Amino acid sequence: MIQLYQPLNFLGMIYREIKQSLIDIEAMFTILARDPEIRDAPDAPALAISGGAVRFEDVHFSYDPDREILKGISFEVPAGRTVAIVGPSGAGKSTISRLLFRFYDVSSGRISIDGQDIRDVTQESLRAAIGMVPQDTVLFNDTLAYNIRYGRHGASDAEVIEAAHLAQIDGFIQHTPKGFDTEVGERGLKLSGGEKQRVAIARTILKAPPILLLDEATSALDSHTEREIQDALDRVSRGRTTLVIAHRLSTVIGADEIIVLAAGRIAERGTHGELMKKRGLYHSMWERQREAERARETLRASGDEG
Ligand code: ATP
Repeated sequence: MIQLYQPLNFLGMIYREIKQSLIDIEAMFTILARDPEIRDAPDAPALAISGGAVRFEDVHFSYDPDREILKGISFEVPAGRTVAIVGPSGAGKSTISRLLFRFYDVSSGRISIDGQDIRDVTQESLRAAIGMVPQDTVLFNDTLAYNIRYGRHGASDAEVIEAAHLAQIDGFIQHTPKGFDTEVGERGLKLSGGEKQRVAIARTILKAPPILLLDEATSALDSHTEREIQDALDRVSRGRTTLVIAHRLSTVIGADEIIVLAAGRIAERGTHGELMKKRGLYHSMWERQREAERARETLRASGDEG
């Protein structure tokens, strides 16, 4: 018995340690996903936010020295406005969001927020100013309330409920067995991609950051879910500086500026109307997306018949 007990006890200890270290999974990803060379400058001040204007100036970047991913990117997201980045897979869209978070430093050029180079301020203050709605949200093995409150640990129950409402996830929560006390994650209720994303939106609403970074899910959502998520995102981004890394074109129509990235360069830029009139890359991406949607509809219709 003692022989068995010891390894079991040891396993239990390891389990508790792992669980403890996984508690802040997002923080762990933050650590893993970044270049270990990135450090705060000595005596770096905290980022001072006025409006939250984001600026990329002639940014070049490569993960590996022999392959440049961003080749001179310049754009500005004025305070409170929305800019969307679109482009083919591998164009460098998500790289832009990683650079804004300073997971890596630019090879040359400059990224600034309200005029301050992001390399000159503390990483902690930089990341506190940016709310991220990621492609794939990690849920903790805990309750829905805990998962939403993660956006701001001190938030009251009423604030959690309000955030869930604004993120349009409250209807779903009402239909779960224990409402906000329902356990989710690996051992609890499994949430769909769209539901997880709305939990992430609720978290971000609680965090109330001046700058929002939305990295859209690549996976196709049904049009009803997509509409709901879009409404929730529109609400959270109102009045905030927002950079959208868009994998679906339908979400960018209302952006103040759309930047079309191709092979690390800005191929086109403008509003949806301007870019459609141009009949260039953006226009052809729309045509392709429409065809894909039509094909999906046809497939679904034939599936319904069969
Ligand atoms: P998608 O729409 O498919 O998500 P994307 O436009 O967001 O694509 P990025 O993720 O920015 O593209 O990647 C741009 C290029 O950089 C790709 O060719 C990718 O292989 C490369 N890349 C991304 N991350 C790394 C990394 N950590 N190390 C080396 N190369 C990388």
